[in-house]
Amino acid sequence: MDIDIKDYRVKDDDKINLKKIPAEYKGKLSKDECREEFEKQKEKLQELQEVLYADEGKALLVVFQAMDAGGKDSTIRHVIGPLNPAGCRVTSFKAPTVHELAHDFLWRIHANIPPRGYIGVFNRSHYEDILIVKVKKLAPEEVIEKRYDHINHFEKLLSDEGTRIVKFYLHISKLYQKKRLERRLERPDKYWKFNADDLKERELWDDYMDAFETALSHCSKKHAPWYIIPSETRWFRDVLVAEVLIETLKDMDLHYPKPDYDPNSIIID
Ligand code: ATP
Ligand code: MG
Repeated sequence: MDIDIKDYRVKDDDKINLKKIPAEYKGKLSKDECREEFEKQKEKLQELQEVLYADEGKALLVVFQAMDAGGKDSTIRHVIGPLNPAGCRVTSFKAPTVHELAHDFLWRIHANIPPRGYIGVFNRSHYEDILIVKVKKLAPEEVIEKRYDHINHFEKLLSDEGTRIVKFYLHISKLYQKKRLERRLERPDKYWKFNADDLKERELWDDYMDAFETALSHCSKKHAPWYIIPSETRWFRDVLVAEVLIETLKDMDLHYPKPDYDPNSIIID
């Protein structure tokens, strides 16, 4: 498949201007080609997940962040859905509870990091603590400023201890968000997804873009890279996310464990 995932990876300390990065796929691959490829990718992912599970030495953490209507839920459904649920955990992070707020911002995150052998998926994450928290000034500026380093150190700790991390920013434009939010008002089966509060966040679009740019630029490291996904083209979004996961899992050097017995010497009556 003609996709170079490096084209979408944020390099350490890269200056990011999201306005200049297309939210639509402009490449040569067709929808049909991608759909066909996606079927193969699902099988590949299933095979790799099984080795990860059997290997028991490492875990994979997949983080999704996006503006409202950016497609976190549907990406998770399409790409993670086909995996074996017994080896997967999806966690959605909402506004912290009083109990969670009584701890440091990484406390609830650490508690949900996947154990070895598992794929953990975060629908929103600790990045909210430098996104919404920054935009809405929910914590003092000097506290937020320190969080970039805290996040980098935390992710390095996880990586050193066997958790591979990969992070996806599902990129959409403000106009596309308008269309998606409008759709929620047009279809009775989508009414439940509409949340008037999302409109307040939408008014702060530019501030969110600034916050995303800073987060992407400061927190994309070799051991925990960010990928910017052109998410308005959903068939390409799915293929690209799946491709990054496949290449990441392949790079983890996973193996089926060697048996501690000789399979040929065992006779089962
Ligand atoms: P849906 O697609 O169903 O709307 P969602 O992820 O938007 O899913 P909501 O319950 O609508 O879920 O929103 C969760 C809200 O919690 C978001 O506005 C998010 O910014 C907020 N949130 C998440 N983590 C934090 C945090 N650490 N501090 C403050 N707010 C947070
Ligand atoms: Mg919401």
